[in-house]
Amino acid sequence: MIRLNSHPSGRHFLQIPGPTNVPDRVLRAMDYPTIDHRGPEFQQLGKKVLADIRKVFQTAQPVVIYPASGTGAWEAALVNTLSPGDNVLMFETGHFASLWKRMADKLGLVSEFLGGDWRHGVDAAAIGARLAEDRNHTIKAVCVVHNETSTGVTSDIAAVRRAIDAANHPALLLVDTISSLGSVDYRHDEWGVDVTVSGSQKGLMLPPGISFNAVSAKAIAASAKSKLPKAFWGWDEIIEANKNGFWPYTPATNLLYGLSEACDMLFEEGLPNVFARHKRHAEATRAAVHGWGLEILCQNPAEYSPALTAVVMPEGHSADAFRKIVLENFNMSLGQGLSKVSGKIFRIGHLGDFNDLTLMGTLAGVEMGLALAKVPHQTGGVLAAMESLRAAAAQPALRAA
Ligand SMILES: *Cc1c(COP(=O)(O)O)cnc(C)c1O
Repeated sequence: MIRLNSHPSGRHFLQIPGPTNVPDRVLRAMDYPTIDHRGPEFQQLGKKVLADIRKVFQTAQPVVIYPASGTGAWEAALVNTLSPGDNVLMFETGHFASLWKRMADKLGLVSEFLGGDWRHGVDAAAIGARLAEDRNHTIKAVCVVHNETSTGVTSDIAAVRRAIDAANHPALLLVDTISSLGSVDYRHDEWGVDVTVSGSQKGLMLPPGISFNAVSAKAIAASAKSKLPKAFWGWDEIIEANKNGFWPYTPATNLLYGLSEACDMLFEEGLPNVFARHKRHAEATRAAVHGWGLEILCQNPAEYSPALTAVVMPEGHSADAFRKIVLENFNMSLGQGLSKVSGKIFRIGHLGDFNDLTLMGTLAGVEMGLALAKVPHQTGGVLAAMESLRAAAAQPALRAA
C-alpha cells in the first residue's frame, strides 16, 4: 500500500461525504475466499442481498446490482429507459446534477436543465410548471438528485412526484440517492420513483465498487421499448438471473459479502434509528458551524442534508489550504469544493459508520484547523456541538425523533 508519510498512529478520519469509513464488521465480512458464483453457497448469498437491499430502498420491486461505481448506475438508469433524442428534464442542484446532465447529453438525449443556485434543492413547482407546458409529452423523464453531495442540500422527492402527478404528465421519475441511501429516509415505492440510482461507498458503509438501480414496473415497461444501446447495463438478463440468486456474469462477490453485513448492521440498528442518528449529527455539526460564526452553504433549513454539511469559507481564505492543514496535522480528510465552489467551501461528511464521539473528533479537528489556518472564526463551535449531543442523549425520545 502506498503511504505518503511514515505510519501515522490511530485511524485516519475519512470525513469526506463518500467514500465513508468502512466498519470493521464489514471489512471482516469481506475477508473470505471468493466462491463459485454459480454454486449453491453463492445462490444463498445472492438471494439474501437482493432481499436485503430492497428493504434499504423501501421497495418490493427489483433492485439491480452492478459491479460499478455510482456513475455506472446513472448510465444504466438512462440507457434502460430512454431512446436517442428523448427529452429529459433535470434540475441543477449542484455538481452531481450537472455531471448527470452532461452524461445524458453524451448519450444522445436532449436535456433541459432548470437552473439552480447550488444553495437550494429541487424546485418541485418549477418542474410541475414546465411539465404542464409540455402538452405533447415530449419530456420522457425527470432526473433529480436526492442528496446533492456537492452542496449539502437534500431535496423533497415526494414533492417532485406530486408535481409530476398534478401536471398529469407521464414522464418517468429518475432519482440519484448515491449519498443518501442508508443515511436519509428514502422511499422508492411510496414516493412513486421509477428508477432510483445508488452506490455502495457512502451511506451503505462499503468500499466503492457496486451500485444499484431500483426499478418500478413502469420503468421495466419503458425498458422494453427504449432504444438507447445497452448490453452490459441491460436490466432484463440481470433481473432474470437474479430470480435464482445469480448474475449473468461474475458479480463482485466479496463486496456482496460486505453488503450482506452492512445490511445486517443497518437492520440491527433499525432504519428509523439510522436516519435519526444522521439528523442528530447534522444538527450538532450545524451548531458547531454557527458557533464558529461561519456560513452554511445550504440556505433552506428544511433542506439541510443529514449526510454532510458544506461550510462557506470567509472571503479571501482558501478552503483547500485549510483542508491541507487539517490533513497534515490531524490525519483527517474533509471534502473539497467541487467545480463552481472549488476552494470556496469545504464539506464535513457525517454519514455512514459514525457516532457522537467520531463527530466530536471530526469537529475538534475542524476547529483546530481553522485556528492553524488563521481563518477568522469564533471558538466554541465544538462546545456548541457537545451541548447539542448532550441534550439529545439526555432525552432518549429526542434521540429517536
Ligand atoms: C458520489 C456521487 C456520485 C458519483 O458516484 P461515483 O461512485 O463516484 O461514480 C453521483 N452522485 C452523487 C449524488 C454522489 O454523491
